[in-house]
Amino acid sequence: MTTDRLIHLLIGIIFLFIFLKVLNINVTMRVLLIGGFSAALGTWVSDWDLILGIGYHRSPLTHSVLPALMFGWLVYKVKLDALLMIGFCLGLSSHLFWDIIDYGNVQWIKGGNSDRLFLLINCIILLVIAFAVSPKYLERSSRY
Ligand SMILES: [Zn+2]
Repeated sequence: MTTDRLIHLLIGIIFLFIFLKVLNINVTMRVLLIGGFSAALGTWVSDWDLILGIGYHRSPLTHSVLPALMFGWLVYKVKLDALLMIGFCLGLSSHLFWDIIDYGNVQWIKGGNSDRLFLLINCIILLVIAFAVSPKYLERSSRY
């Protein structure tokens, strides 16, 4: 595992814990395992542009909401735990967030600030999706 991968994983876990804290969600074993697994997957999926042979790193195809939409479609079709989608969105958004800070360069988009804006918009959309999906599927501590 490279240092870069490790940093992305760490930021993803931090995002997950901030999310759980902000929404006051019960941290059960299910939340930790499924949320943690999918968040880890979400932090990793952006770098698949290297594996999939798209040709260059930081492709807008993998550094956007697109992987989450495809993953969400799969979760919906196969009727998997919606928590997978929440964790995935958090992991992916944390990846984009860290890329804004660390590099900011996205292929096909010219100019450093346009790249960062692209990453930021996608990062925010992913967070909105995670927050929008969560009330239905996660139990909050404040209910009782
Ligand atoms: Zn990246």
